[in-house]
Amino acid sequence: MTAQIIDGKAFAAGLRARITTEVAAMADRGITPGLAVVLVGEDPASQVYVRSKHRQTVEVGMNSFEHRLPAETDQKTLLDLIAQLNADPAVNGILVQLPLPAHLDEALVINAIAAEKDVDGFHILNVGRLATGQKAMVPCTPLGCLMMLREQLGSLSGKNAVVIGRSNIVGKPMAQLLLRDSATVTVAHSRTADLPAVVRGADIVVAAVGRPNFVQGDWIKPGATVIDVGINRTDDGLVGDVDFAAASQVAGAITPVPGGVGPMTIACLLANTLTATARANGLPDPEGLTP
Ligand code: NDP
Repeated sequence: MTAQIIDGKAFAAGLRARITTEVAAMADRGITPGLAVVLVGEDPASQVYVRSKHRQTVEVGMNSFEHRLPAETDQKTLLDLIAQLNADPAVNGILVQLPLPAHLDEALVINAIAAEKDVDGFHILNVGRLATGQKAMVPCTPLGCLMMLREQLGSLSGKNAVVIGRSNIVGKPMAQLLLRDSATVTVAHSRTADLPAVVRGADIVVAAVGRPNFVQGDWIKPGATVIDVGINRTDDGLVGDVDFAAASQVAGAITPVPGGVGPMTIACLLANTLTATARANGLPDPEGLTP
């Protein structure tokens, strides 16, 4: 069996096209969504992400506000900037690029963002709202995975799903979203006993481990849908957490790396910014962009 390749790049392009249309419709009402991105320091990977976010924000017709602060910025200066962005009606979404330099308290900074502008979905209120089934801002990467799974499978109800990884930014919110869609969810991690056996029972596998080619082809249940979140830089280039060559012989559908989950993440950031803008203006949530 050869798996269908889930084309995240094409899916993300479609999503951005839809967002562009919605942004144009908002412009007719005199509303332009605005996304503020705060980058502290000069981490090269973060600089690449911030550039990409800026370009795509402008391309869909939103306003992009970039704030670059030196690595030695103190906490008060950063918190003051966040307070200013919270109060600015032109700013609908605020994203503080992580990781922050070690002297800054990441949790404190994230929780200082107004929850309704927290387009990364990391604020403690949004985490709690997602966990309790309330209207939340949902973390971008798991939201993108959910959209691709729904598109691929239709209903997720009753499916056995295994999420490998329990981070706050991917694994845990992914598990919450799958649960919300009535999948039966197992969250695996580094202490999980007999991981291959756990994965073999899964109709849906989401791998968010951060280890190149970690999930083996013979762990995959024939016909399963495999979402590979991993981004690992190796001598052979960018590879995922799943041994793609082997897994794609067994799975029913699989995301490639690159070109799978990655492109969906920024598209979902724009989707969240649109949702935040709609909510700020008393408009209904744009359809299909929230869980
Ligand atoms: P973290 O390092 O925060 O979490 C990794 C998780 O994997 C942990 O829960 C850890 O378990 C688990 N793990 C580690 N080793 C094993 C093992 N041997 N067996 C089972 N589980 C294991 O990573 P993130 O969640 O932040 O990211 C995961 C991957 O996704 C990375 O490659 C990252 O680059 C990528 N990523 C991609 C994004 C995208 O846009 N496509 C966005 C965000 C991340 P434990 O908790 O027990 O230590």
